[in-house]
Amino acid sequence: MRINYHVHNGYSSDGRGTTEQVVQTAFDLGFDEICFTNHAEQLSPEGGDWSLDLVEARQLYELQQQEIERLQPVYPELRILLGAELEYRPEWVETLDALVDSVDFDLIIGSVHVVDGHQISGGSVGEYFKKRDASEAYGRYFELLEEMVDWAGFDVVGHFDLVKRFGTKFYGPFDAEPFESQIRSTLDKMVGKGIGLEVNTSGVVQPPAEPYPGLDILRHAAEARIATVTIGSDSHVPTSFEQGIEVGERALLRAGFGEITLFSHRIRKNVPLDLDLEEDDKG
Ligand SMILES: [Zn+2]
Ligand SMILES: [Zn+2]
Repeated sequence: MRINYHVHNGYSSDGRGTTEQVVQTAFDLGFDEICFTNHAEQLSPEGGDWSLDLVEARQLYELQQQEIERLQPVYPELRILLGAELEYRPEWVETLDALVDSVDFDLIIGSVHVVDGHQISGGSVGEYFKKRDASEAYGRYFELLEEMVDWAGFDVVGHFDLVKRFGTKFYGPFDAEPFESQIRSTLDKMVGKGIGLEVNTSGVVQPPAEPYPGLDILRHAAEARIATVTIGSDSHVPTSFEQGIEVGERALLRAGFGEITLFSHRIRKNVPLDLDLEEDDKG
């Protein structure tokens, strides 16, 4: 099965392309299931920070839903899902909960992109990284990620170690080892709350050159017995739709995962991860 459960289009402020262009791309590449996971928050027209408005967000997902309903019969071989990528900020939780209650989503990804008011994955990231050493920059991010898991208003944790995207640039290759106990504690909490993990393959084509999370954290997740795992390319334009997906699938197998999770109306079903590992790829 070919699955891409993290896809943006023009409905995200930082995305491009129509729903139909993305669907056509997925069809051409032989995908079986895709999930549009646009951001609930919008970038202000002047740039700068993102803002969240319940009415505006609801309208956005309703428009996305209508397009999926129009296109689904045209592409019967491809299952098209409505998802959302929700950004965890403590002050947004109430609005996010209200949004989730009022839209029939198939899948909700929970993500951290902002730590203590600073962007960590795009925009003016220097303000965050330049003033902190690696231990503080990564440690504080993982603290917030754990806080997001405490909230638990979503199905899977998106790009678990996204902070390494620019951290790599400031501190060199990311090593998860110093944060292992923090990471294991978050993974255990996820298991307790029934929250799954996403393998986000955009990192393969970004400076870390590996998925979010990397193999070490994936192995910890397998050991913690995380039962729900999705995969997504986090593409923001149709031309990057497929980025890193095969690398991500191989990483899952290497880490010991044999199944991947499908979603429908936020109900899960695990299916075998049926990828043939080349002999020399086994790690
Ligand atoms: Zn994200
Ligand atoms: Zn995304």
